[in-house]
Amino acid sequence: MSFLLTCPHCGPREVTDFGYGGESVTRPDAPPSDRARNRYLYFRVNVAGVQREWWYHRSGCRSWFIAERDTRTNAVLGTELPGADEESRPGRAHGAPIAPGTPAR
Ligand SMILES: [Zn+2]
Repeated sequence: MSFLLTCPHCGPREVTDFGYGGESVTRPDAPPSDRARNRYLYFRVNVAGVQREWWYHRSGCRSWFIAERDTRTNAVLGTELPGADEESRPGRAHGAPIAPGTPAR
């Protein structure tokens, strides 16, 4: 399945131009407990729905950015460059609204 992803620098491109970087997860407080560190490093939520995730524009500007994608339909709701506090932001509720995305094909 192919879909478009909008790079914040380059605009809409085929998803094959990008590398998937995984879910955006919250870094635990320092120093983390063993359980918190292991959860951060090895466990993912893997939601069936909208999740924030990292993408890398490997065939373009080589930038990392955040996308909100529905994992059921591959509809991209929006993309944005990560803020300095990205790791501490648990989700969109604490971030500014992001740019509109492109519909899945
Ligand atoms: Zn780009």
